[in-house]
Amino acid sequence: MKPNTTNPSDLKIVALAGGVGGAKLADGLAQIMQPENLTVIVNTGDDFTHWGLNISPDLDTVCYTLGGLANSVTGWGRMDESWSVFEQMERLGAEAWFRLGDKDLATHLERTRRLRGEEPLSGITRDFCRRWGIRHAVLPMTDDPVATMVDTVEMGELAFQEYFVHQRCEPTVKGFRFAGIDSARPAPGVIEAFEKADAVVICPSNPWVSVDPILKILAPLNPPIFGENGGKILVAVSPIIGGKTVKGPAAKMFAELGIEPSALAVARHYGSPLLTGFVLDTIDADLSEPVAGLGIVPFSTNTIMNLSDNRRQLAQDVLNFIQRLL
Ligand code: GDP
Repeated sequence: MKPNTTNPSDLKIVALAGGVGGAKLADGLAQIMQPENLTVIVNTGDDFTHWGLNISPDLDTVCYTLGGLANSVTGWGRMDESWSVFEQMERLGAEAWFRLGDKDLATHLERTRRLRGEEPLSGITRDFCRRWGIRHAVLPMTDDPVATMVDTVEMGELAFQEYFVHQRCEPTVKGFRFAGIDSARPAPGVIEAFEKADAVVICPSNPWVSVDPILKILAPLNPPIFGENGGKILVAVSPIIGGKTVKGPAAKMFAELGIEPSALAVARHYGSPLLTGFVLDTIDADLSEPVAGLGIVPFSTNTIMNLSDNRRQLAQDVLNFIQRLL
């Protein structure tokens, strides 16, 4: 259905996001879209407890980025962070492989307190966003517990943060399991956001561990949101540029699973009919033809979002592309 608008920035969009790559594009979209037109749905499969605290790394990366609070150098945590508690915890012998700064700790302390009081993660996130001045909607994919498990050659099955942070993504990946996914329901607001959306954007996040858990939660929904009978336009932006990731293990995961890492491999991973369109980096423009061969409309542009301006420009390019597909 053609939306009754000529300005792509007035489209209603749901963006699916993991951490770093997801947060950057969400920030670009938030720069050019009215709050009521954008909902960001964030992976919670990486969530875990550490020092007795509930930590939601992807949700926090997205919120800190949208709130202008993020540490853009590390890609995680808060800017202008201090480490007093962490240093004292280390001195007391607490596990120190996952670094938690003082400002970041406040988020986890208050989230944990409220979760223990039976408040849902989605409600807590909404309230935190309001207090951080974030006007666009950010929703966890679910309020139910889901735990991404990474099956590895050397160490067997590892909880995600154990693999990602403690083992620095070094073990060879054999596969993934999302514990709890079959009984996890979409968080309140997720289905409503899809219902009113003109299109869905898969941000350049890790397909295996950031986006797949979100898609798996949505897959059983009836009526379906995407695919042959779902009717929504779905466009993904490649997290793999020139065969490499900007950050993180996505390319390494493709290779270890026996798939040559490339933007084309990402397009194939999501596949048609799920994907309507696929955004590749200009340096991968030669992959446009094979992407089109999958029955997916390709579009190439600069997808490196190292600056705020690049984020906004990519977001605008993605919206213009969607407008042409509608
Ligand atoms: P994580 O949960 O923190 O690992 O974050 P995500 O899954 O959201 O993001 C990881 C992916 O983001 C990696 O595959 C990166 O290649 C990709 N990424 C990070 N920055 C950029 C960028 O500026 N442009 C593009 N296209 N991808 C990016």
